[in-house]
Amino acid sequence: MEILYKSTRGGEQGVTASMAILKGLAKDGGLFVPAQIPALDVPVETLAQMSYQEVAYEVMSRFFTDFTEEELKECIAKAYDEKFDTEEIAPITKAEDVYFLELFHGATIAFKDMALSILPHLLTTAARKNHAKNEIVILTATSGDTGKAAMAGFADVPGTRIIVFYPKDGVSPVQEKQMVTQKGENTCVVAIRGNFDDAQTGVKNIFNDKAFAEELAKDGFQFSSANSINIGRLIPQVVYYVYAYASLVRNQEIQNGDIVNVTVPTGNFGNILAAFYAKQMGLPIGKLICASNENKVLVDFFRTGVYDKNRPFILTTSPSMDILISSNLERLIYWVAGQSPEKTKACMERLQSSGKYEIDAEMREQLKDFCGDYASEEETAARIASMYENTGYVLDTHTAVAASVCEKYRKETKDATPMILASTASPYKFTRSVLHAIDAAAYDGLGDFEQMDELSRISNTEIPRAIEEIRTAPVRHNTVCDVDQMAQVVRDVLR
Ligand SMILES: *Cc1c(COP(=O)(O)O)cnc(C)c1O
Repeated sequence: MEILYKSTRGGEQGVTASMAILKGLAKDGGLFVPAQIPALDVPVETLAQMSYQEVAYEVMSRFFTDFTEEELKECIAKAYDEKFDTEEIAPITKAEDVYFLELFHGATIAFKDMALSILPHLLTTAARKNHAKNEIVILTATSGDTGKAAMAGFADVPGTRIIVFYPKDGVSPVQEKQMVTQKGENTCVVAIRGNFDDAQTGVKNIFNDKAFAEELAKDGFQFSSANSINIGRLIPQVVYYVYAYASLVRNQEIQNGDIVNVTVPTGNFGNILAAFYAKQMGLPIGKLICASNENKVLVDFFRTGVYDKNRPFILTTSPSMDILISSNLERLIYWVAGQSPEKTKACMERLQSSGKYEIDAEMREQLKDFCGDYASEEETAARIASMYENTGYVLDTHTAVAASVCEKYRKETKDATPMILASTASPYKFTRSVLHAIDAAAYDGLGDFEQMDELSRISNTEIPRAIEEIRTAPVRHNTVCDVDQMAQVVRDVLR
């Protein structure tokens, strides 16, 4: 069955998977969605015997139907290789009766590696298939993890350039060090004076500027996006939910057919949307628990049906979730609006003009499998400490937000359904906050790398390669600009 893609705002339809990946964003500003969600027509018993790469092929081939088997398998083989420090790619650790699905074993030790290690290959394959002549320019706004993971994926991939914008004071020291030391002749990193939403809005404005696109096309460039609005990012994320379920069956933790709940630490709404897609494919997922930090726009949305970004932007210890406009929510809105582009467009226009929209009762009814809650900074730190004390397992700050929300959910609902929790970053990526939560007096005075040595000692885990590499790497990028200079920076870089 061929799956074609269309814009959530109605301006494009009948688009092949490869074209949707190549375009990133639809020309009406909407996001590409599959016209229908394919069924997971492989028995779980079969999936349970498969490697991550094999499961990836089964899932992705159902969505990316215009890729040949050979093309897709080559993309998968190039992505999920020894860049990951474990053969399983996405292993599960059970602690306090929660299945932590560890998505942080890739090149940059955060979950965005799961999709960004394959996107460059999907994109260059898509360009080849569609006879695109222009060099692909990836523009990305990052709250810390996307940028590094995207650059690691695209570095020195022929026919591509990548420019990443990040908020100067909105990322962790390790995240910043990882980015400014990025290698690759085709990579460029720029700090902006503003927050993540400013960076994301700036990138969107560049994407929507038709005159600018024409100007660049003359010079042989075309934009694409590595943000989670690209369908080529979203679909690879469906894989690990399927793989996790199959792994639990294989390990006899659950029986085939048992319902599982998932808790996902959420920012731009890509990861949890992938879980929702997995559920629509037929994976037995019950509740989708959306965990936020103190920037709890989504929590309020799930509780009231009102999305309202008009509120202070709070910098937290889980910076990759410091987001007030969750771009991927548009895909869910479209779905619960019964795939109505008109309704979706109306919501997004209201968001644009007043920063706020409300969905109707019918749409809210469709959201009943979701529930949202948040963890305060204190609760997040306390969760890291209690987990460490009880089990010796060390959670990063983002995962701890989800673990705190998960604990509250279970206490409030008495729902004992097995729980998969998306563990989105290695604690080594946020060492300072993690050690501060465990024992501030003992660790706060140490330098960044001394702290990592301490973390290795107390958690009995090896320091990941990604961290070892930046200890000595020279700074290669030091541009800082204002939000209104972003387009000019892009011109200068490409010239
Ligand atoms: C990006 C990120 C998130 C949020 O994921 P979304 O798909 O944007 O909701 C959570 N945790 C970490 C560590 C991240 O890098």
